[in-house]
Amino acid sequence: MKYDAVIVGASVAGLYLGMRLARNRWRVCIVDRRREIGLPVRCAEATGNRAELARLLPVDEAWIAREVSGISVQLNRTTVVRRDIPDAGIVLRRDTFEQYLARLGLQHGAELRLNTPAVGLTQDDNGYTGIRLEDGSRIEASLIAGADGCESLVGRWAGITGPLHPAEAFTAAQYTLKSDFCNDGLMHFFVGAGNIPRGYIWVFPKADGLISVGAGLYGCNHDLPKAGWYLDRFVSSHLPEVKRGPKSAGCVPIALCPHALCRKNVMVVGDAARQVNPLTAGGIMNALEASLLAAEKLLSSRGSLEARLRSYSKAWYRRFRLEQKVFMMLKETYLGLPDAGIESVLTAASSAFSGSVDRSRPFIFPYLRLLGLGIRFLPHLRPHLRILAG
Ligand SMILES: Cc1cc2nc3c(=O)[nH]c(=O)nc-3n(C[C@H](O)[C@H](O)[C@H](O)COP(=O)(O)OP(=O)(O)OC[C@H]3O[C@@H](n4cnc5c(N)ncnc54)[C@H](O)[C@@H]3O)c2cc1C
Repeated sequence: MKYDAVIVGASVAGLYLGMRLARNRWRVCIVDRRREIGLPVRCAEATGNRAELARLLPVDEAWIAREVSGISVQLNRTTVVRRDIPDAGIVLRRDTFEQYLARLGLQHGAELRLNTPAVGLTQDDNGYTGIRLEDGSRIEASLIAGADGCESLVGRWAGITGPLHPAEAFTAAQYTLKSDFCNDGLMHFFVGAGNIPRGYIWVFPKADGLISVGAGLYGCNHDLPKAGWYLDRFVSSHLPEVKRGPKSAGCVPIALCPHALCRKNVMVVGDAARQVNPLTAGGIMNALEASLLAAEKLLSSRGSLEARLRSYSKAWYRRFRLEQKVFMMLKETYLGLPDAGIESVLTAASSAFSGSVDRSRPFIFPYLRLLGLGIRFLPHLRPHLRILAG
């Protein structure tokens, strides 16, 4: 049987794209090398708020672990910026979320094959015809979508992306722990050399008295300690009594996404397309948004399949490229700051952003305070403005 689409990767991007296409009567096959949908979870699971998610799919309480009501950024014991932001976001039960997406896809007729690694693309004189599986069999399809994550092979096989440079990887490790530590509904970030140089440590609230404690590093430097080392040091110092379970680790691309997200009848989406916020290293919302955009373009009746894929690529570029560059610039600025610089920015931010924020109008702050923040921040930002032009 020839499918309309074969999707490599049954995680947020692949499952959501597959569901949207199957809902419109496309014959879809989604393959994943994992044995179970959603597991293991290698994610802190924080994402957009209910309204943002409701634009994409019906919200189900089963996959909401916790509402987030603000953020706190801590440099040392005295410098803390804390902001109450109603509806800041939610923390998912990501395994349940992915299982929910899979169920919707199956209900609409998508086929799902687990424990099925893709090992290559197949092609004939006219172009790509499908994928090759580890057992030697093939799946034929008109469209091949790579939703295969950070180290996407589909992107490489089709010549859309290359291997990720170590500087373009955010490597992270995390524990899920039972503790009251920072378990107040806020997302807590710990920054600065005393906590973790060139990265951040997070403590996010979860359901049932649990927290996610993780450490992430911008760029992978083989001569320096790894994210897991900083995580263990943090946990030993702040949560010495807490029993640790298994440590999970993973990688997120923090590169700008390529100019073209497709080649011939092959496309990439989600982490495979590097559609990640390079400052936060969050990719769930972007993966969902990009899958929606791709589905809308593919389902439009205008043009050949290749033309519709190019239209997805261009639309993503127009909508998100500048935003990604701004976050890239902020990340580079953050990496260039010594602790004294971070402290001065946090102190200015703390007074500029005092009180609670209306999430629908987050930039309505007292102008003079905002100006003060700008004056402190601009000298650090200036060396990285060229990223916007690139
Ligand atoms: C420790 C950690 C914490 C994070 N925390 C957050 C957070 O709090 N909020 C947030 O928004 N983002 C977070 N992220 C990033 C987020 O997890 C990713 O952006 C998101 O998972 C991207 O989804 P995806 O579907 O594109 O790719 P992935 O979730 O990476 O899924 C790729 C899928 O493809 C499959 N696959 C790969 N190769 C093949 C192959 N050859 N054949 C078959 N299947 C294949 C994999 O098994 C996998 O299921 C975190 C990441 C890490 C590592």
